[in-house]
Amino acid sequence: MEIENIVANTVYIKARESGGQKKGKSKKWKSYLQFPHYSTCLSLRSEIDVSYGYIIEKQPIGKLLFQQFCEEHVQYHQCWSFLQKVEEYETSDDDGENRRHLAQYIISLLAPSESEEPSSSNDESSNWAHFLPEKVIDNCIKTADDAAHNSEPRSDIFAEAYRHVRNFLAAEPFKEFLNTVYFYRYLQWKWLEKRCVDKHTFRLYRVLGKGGFGEVCACQVRASGKMYALKKLEKKRVKKRHAETLTLNEKQILQRINSPFVVSLAYAYETKDALCLVLTLMNGGDLKFHLYNLSPGGFDEKRAQFYAAEITLGLQHLHKERILYRDLKPENILLDDYGHVRISDLGLAVELKDNEPIKGRVGTVGYMAPEIIKNEKYSYGVDWWGLGCLIYEMIDGKAPFRQRKEKVKREEVERRVREDQEKYSEKFSDAARTLCRGLLHKEPSFRLGCRKIGRPEDGAEELRAHPFFHTGDPITGREPVPWKKMEAGKLTPPFCPDPRAVYAKDVLDIEQFSTVKGIRL
Ligand code: ADP
Ligand code: MG
Ligand code: MG
Repeated sequence: MEIENIVANTVYIKARESGGQKKGKSKKWKSYLQFPHYSTCLSLRSEIDVSYGYIIEKQPIGKLLFQQFCEEHVQYHQCWSFLQKVEEYETSDDDGENRRHLAQYIISLLAPSESEEPSSSNDESSNWAHFLPEKVIDNCIKTADDAAHNSEPRSDIFAEAYRHVRNFLAAEPFKEFLNTVYFYRYLQWKWLEKRCVDKHTFRLYRVLGKGGFGEVCACQVRASGKMYALKKLEKKRVKKRHAETLTLNEKQILQRINSPFVVSLAYAYETKDALCLVLTLMNGGDLKFHLYNLSPGGFDEKRAQFYAAEITLGLQHLHKERILYRDLKPENILLDDYGHVRISDLGLAVELKDNEPIKGRVGTVGYMAPEIIKNEKYSYGVDWWGLGCLIYEMIDGKAPFRQRKEKVKREEVERRVREDQEKYSEKFSDAARTLCRGLLHKEPSFRLGCRKIGRPEDGAEELRAHPFFHTGDPITGREPVPWKKMEAGKLTPPFCPDPRAVYAKDVLDIEQFSTVKGIRL
């Protein structure tokens, strides 16, 4: 290994380890993190989203502050605890003692046991859920009771009660919250977040990958020590390819999306030469690196299933927001420290206004759906095609319509995509084969994920029900992927990256040899 690469890796690994601790923080930058006086921030109120659904349910800081607010008030506190317990219940293991205990505990919150002194039942603490219709409580008790006796407790027993309690908190209590110091603290955080950043805010580390318009490298906020990835889009190159609207688009879509399965945008700024996107750092590398450098021949089916499931959830989120992704391929799927994956690179993503199909030949050769190649109108189905290609590649160790490093003209690849039936080796189980077949249906209206007409996010539901997403344990039988648990980030990934390793090519190789080919804009 070149000495330059060793140095670059060592410095990067050190920064990663110190990230968030004292070591990575710069004294000089300390004042940068100080809160301004709250009165400075009050004007922000009119500029930001002040709904319960956003602040409390989408912003971790908001959630924490609201919890602290609730803790000061007996009734609110009990409502809050109830919501937390139900969430824990819904994402806990589908069977097992733990879940039954949780159910019992939640029931005891709803209906304090009758043996208690009658006098205590009128005080605030046992009457916290007075707004809940009797019927709803009875229903919970009954279904929980049934479940405890004959089968596995269902995950949605408390859904209705949850809705009532949530709506209670979102009304008066939330209004009260908006006039407390807790909310002012939230505004202070938002103020810090909104402040200008520029290249001096960050320390730069080694390059991690190369894209069409520039490099991606690791970086660290000087003031806090937190690590990110910095994606540079060089203005010169953007101009040369007339991609100004596309790059702006990438930023705008990224800042709208907030999903654990899609890379998040933390900051954006520009320099004289480049637009810079500061993104979630994905230390585990991209799937292309894993597939071709570390696990040649493909992943085992469990691992492929896990990634496919998380990517399906990412696509579902994008489609729900009316975003078409259009660039699924292994190098755009990245692993984090724990081995969870996220979709990255929204450079080709586009919003479908009113869900109307669109036209435009964009994508990467070998992954574009037949309807794109034929220059027809297309919709969310092109992403399900892309997922089909990706799952195929994860299992077989090569893409369905093109051998790796095969010297073949673009026209030939496109002919294969339009006309040839892909072949399935013995690496595919029955379920994997039918899934890929379904996703790689040349006619979009018959394709898996496109056959139900309804909301855009329903496509993912069709996939989620496919036998491929059942865990095939021959003894306990086949059980579906625990989707709720996966959405809550509670599943342990099948492969965990080594914290001391760098999952990227050597720095010199990236700089000198990689060019990105085959992408159409
Ligand atoms: P392009 O839009 O030009 O294809 P990408 O956003 O896909 O650029 O980035 C190129 C490569 O850089 C990726 O394939 C990946 O290896 C690396 N990379 C991109 N984003 C990150 C990130 N957030 N964390 C770690 N590596 C990244
Ligand atoms: Mg890319
Ligand atoms: Mg891109």
